Amino acid sequence: MFTGEPMFDLVIGALFSALIGSLIGGTKGRSGAGAVLGLLIGPIGWLLVAVGKDRRPKCPECGGVIVPGARRCKNCGASLVAEPTARRAQPHITFRKKSASAETVACPHCVQPILKSSLVVGHNTCPSCAQVFDVEQA
Ligand SMILES: [Zn+2]
Ligand SMILES: [Zn+2]
Repeated sequence: MFTGEPMFDLVIGALFSALIGSLIGGTKGRSGAGAVLGLLIGPIGWLLVAVGKDRRPKCPECGGVIVPGARRCKNCGASLVAEPTARRAQPHITFRKKSASAETVACPHCVQPILKSSLVVGHNTCPSCAQVFDVEQA
């Protein structure tokens, strides 16, 4: 490694610094930054990378490092696919039945709706047309 050629030693040293920086940075997902810092400022660069922020993506469930682009955490198996956190509330739809069909019957004479509750078994008088009609026992 030390050949006596100052320039050659410098290059080897710089490459070595870059390599170390890259390895340190690699543990934080910053091998590129580590290489550059190691190349430029040597051991200080290694330190900066070592104490720097860990840029690797983390599993939101277990905090473990995950492979970028992975759909599932290799540590805990949690799904990493972005899901809508707040599902949009479903509009509340109520189907209002026509009360005419359920609560009333049509007058056999005028076809006006008559409340079933107002009917009696036997003779009934239509409130609309005053005609008489019979209601049989259900
Ligand atoms: Zn996980
Ligand atoms: Zn009627």
